[in-house]
Amino acid sequence: MKPLKADELRKKFIDFFVSKGHTQISGASVIPENDPTVLFTTAGMHPLVPYLLGQPHPAGTRLTDYQKCIRTGDIDSVGDPHHLTCFEMLGNWSLGDYFKKEMIPWSYEFLTKELGIDPEKLSVTVFEGEEGIPRDTESAEIWHSLGIPYERIYFMPREDNWWGPAGETGPCGPDTEMFIDTGRPACGPDCKPGCGCGKYFEIWNDVLMGYNKNKEGQFVEMERKCIDTGMGIERTIAILQGKKSVYETEVMQPILKRIGELAGVEYGKDDKTDISMRIIADHIRTSTFILGDQRGCTPSNVGQGYILRRLIRRAVRNGRHLGIQGTFLAKVAEIVIDLYGAPYPELLQNKDKVFDELTKEEIKFSETLEKGEKQFEKMTFFMEKQGIKEIAGGSAFKLYDTFGFPIELTQELAAEKGFTVDVKGFNEAFAKHQELSRTAEAGQFKSGLGDHSEETTALHTATHLLHAALRKVPLRP
Ligand SMILES: [Zn+2]
Repeated sequence: MKPLKADELRKKFIDFFVSKGHTQISGASVIPENDPTVLFTTAGMHPLVPYLLGQPHPAGTRLTDYQKCIRTGDIDSVGDPHHLTCFEMLGNWSLGDYFKKEMIPWSYEFLTKELGIDPEKLSVTVFEGEEGIPRDTESAEIWHSLGIPYERIYFMPREDNWWGPAGETGPCGPDTEMFIDTGRPACGPDCKPGCGCGKYFEIWNDVLMGYNKNKEGQFVEMERKCIDTGMGIERTIAILQGKKSVYETEVMQPILKRIGELAGVEYGKDDKTDISMRIIADHIRTSTFILGDQRGCTPSNVGQGYILRRLIRRAVRNGRHLGIQGTFLAKVAEIVIDLYGAPYPELLQNKDKVFDELTKEEIKFSETLEKGEKQFEKMTFFMEKQGIKEIAGGSAFKLYDTFGFPIELTQELAAEKGFTVDVKGFNEAFAKHQELSRTAEAGQFKSGLGDHSEETTALHTATHLLHAALRKVPLRP
């Protein structure tokens, strides 16, 4: 495998598809323009949905791009060596143009020639079929004709190899996914692509959108067939470079190095400080992408602004864990902008805004963080004495109202000490406060502060839309 860097992979992918007659389009904002069901653009195909559904695209029927994506549903898992809340996705699309016969050979060509992946290490999955929809032997035969032996072509059911439709009805279809054998021993006799043990690494997914689901729930083959593919940059370069983690690659190392300089620690020497360093690196990277976006927002108590606030506050708190005093977030963001200013010039244009907003939020939160933590300590000290293990909703609300602790932060602190939080009680206290102060616009607070994970709720709402897209780039390699 060629140990490509992110910049090289991005360029190779785009150049490859341009050489196959595609037009490069620019990626969209991380804040979706016409989709109120999700807070952030979560996949490369997300901005392309209207065109996959039939709207003509001004740039034609063969498109390719790289897209910054944000998924914060797993924010609590960030800190381990695998999770990221922000990543780049490469994609190419056929809008009623080419189909399987072109796409599968191109996939094979790109993986083996451009990325230098040993064909012996490749396995693929195809749709096994079900009542009314035939088994995708066509794709299997194309893979086989390219040299993939039948024993490495796996037929999988709908749960694994089907995308869509985006709504109740509409275009949908099977997909074919490509896996690299990492060389790890199989976890058992049933180990195969899609197994979570880490033997098989999913590198790419071609969605073969050839059906229309009608009102009667039938899948009817369409005349106008589309292709939608997605490849995550960070995890792909990690595997190409033989790294165990995306945090060991050149897109995260300089950020971790800067954090290390600020904290006087070195990455990779201590598990506990590594976790904090990864949280800061990830969260400030994502915050920089949100603040520096063409449609960027600022920290607030609603929607995207609330997620941004959570990311920043969590980074500040982890900075304190590392012993960093004073403001430091903008110094971390400088490195992110150095790394990504070329592919995303909007980051350079919005540089000052990124630094200002980070620092403003950091100062605001730092002022109360220490006091809040003291209050939290005091509170749990007395609770412990009385054998109480659940923090009352009113107390959690006080931490929010007086010290700016997002409910998730209180939950995190609580979990660290073996406590739980009465989130329902918090919501009630919050609602009551809203009613009294009448300052908030009705309805806006129902998410986020309400059920402690608005992004999850939003994703649930759009699950039908993004089901396959979400599977395309698992956050965990
Ligand atoms: Zn396995």
